[in-house]
Amino acid sequence: MKINSAEFIISNSDVKKCPNEPLPEYAFIGRSNVGKSSLINMLTGKKSLAKTSSKPGKTQLINHFKINSNWYLVDLPGYGYAKVSKSTKAVFQKFITEYFEQREQLVCGFVLIDIRLEAQKIDLDFINYLGESQIPFCIIFTKADKIGKVKAQQNIAAYRKKLLAAGWEEIPQYFVTSSLESSGRDELLDFIDDINKQ
Ligand code: GDP
Repeated sequence: MKINSAEFIISNSDVKKCPNEPLPEYAFIGRSNVGKSSLINMLTGKKSLAKTSSKPGKTQLINHFKINSNWYLVDLPGYGYAKVSKSTKAVFQKFITEYFEQREQLVCGFVLIDIRLEAQKIDLDFINYLGESQIPFCIIFTKADKIGKVKAQQNIAAYRKKLLAAGWEEIPQYFVTSSLESSGRDELLDFIDDINKQ
């Protein structure tokens, strides 16, 4: 897919105030510093569409970007556990779960994972939450340029093992990306394009 236009439309913290248009949405989420803003800028070819920063804990907003006038790229904030849970069950910030559970335009979520790190509990909890809620999603491994190809495959295999141990039958569809090298860009955009054409 060629990106002809990418424009910021609106930021808000209330799913009910998201754009009232029947366009397909693809939502990007992950822990702070995972490389989400860099990936969004790399995908759209706009250097500062999403704000990059090495500071964790940026503003908690749902950001809608309209791409090619026919789909939305949604930049969700870094997730964390909500402080309301008395049980051991992971509970995420309300507006994030409301977005995933209520947003009818959502076609697919993308959970970003830093390919260098061992599986983190919060990422696994979020992936399990999406699975249990039957919300379609893929994994995007980020920062692949920081490790070699062999190590990357080993880390993905370790991730798959963790997911199988958590009850998954197979690792969900995944992409390996580097914003520095623009790798994984065509695969991701073609994936989105193929769904939009269906
Ligand atoms: P966000 O908090 O998830 O939006 O993360 P950012 O996009 O702001 O990236 C966090 C840090 O990781 C920044 O210092 C980026 O320059 C760096 N970074 C992000 N993506 C990549 C990548 O693909 N390769 C490398 N080497 N660094 C990256």
